[in-house]
Amino acid sequence: MKFKSWLYNEEEVEISKPVEGLDNLIQQIKKTHPNTSNNLTELIKDFIVKSQVPKIEITNLSMALGASLNDRVIISSSVLNGSIQHILYVIFHEIAHQYQYKKHGFAEMFAYFKDDYKLDDAVELLRKVENITDRFAISKINQIKKILQEKGENLDTSGIHGYYKSIPHNMIANYIKMVKQKLKGDDVTNPEKISSTLWNIIKPN
Ligand SMILES: [Zn+2]
Repeated sequence: MKFKSWLYNEEEVEISKPVEGLDNLIQQIKKTHPNTSNNLTELIKDFIVKSQVPKIEITNLSMALGASLNDRVIISSSVLNGSIQHILYVIFHEIAHQYQYKKHGFAEMFAYFKDDYKLDDAVELLRKVENITDRFAISKINQIKKILQEKGENLDTSGIHGYYKSIPHNMIANYIKMVKQKLKGDDVTNPEKISSTLWNIIKPN
């Protein structure tokens, strides 16, 4: 399947609702990266608003750089200290998941937690979903780089690559086993249950 067909088309979005926490996110980026141009922040905002995510927040996460839940996207505060391209990568990866949830349904994108899948198949499905998300995030960053170039601005995109390609099989398998244990069977189709379980794993201690 072509990865584009996995994603909700942002061009289809007509009504844009305000996203709680978006102004704060932009402020925090400008604080750690004062040279961030208004052209860039407008393009970041546009991509986030069109995903129709209700809320984006910055929190100190353990075990994750970010998360995309049924009601919000969370970015770990440590991410803001990295390079601008890494910040964009993390935000756009998590926002790309919101485009996927819109198109396919939230629970469907976590089908690898279902008991129907053998563990090895579940690992490959998770990796496939995450690789698609990575590719979408990176192509969006490159698209923004081009738009900025036309305005005479440079965006450094060096060092950006998909991270899920290189995560060892065992590490993903252990993650799936751990989450399934906490989800306990029936609840794997309930978006609130999936979200609260993931949140409990990554929330600050
Ligand atoms: Zn992801």
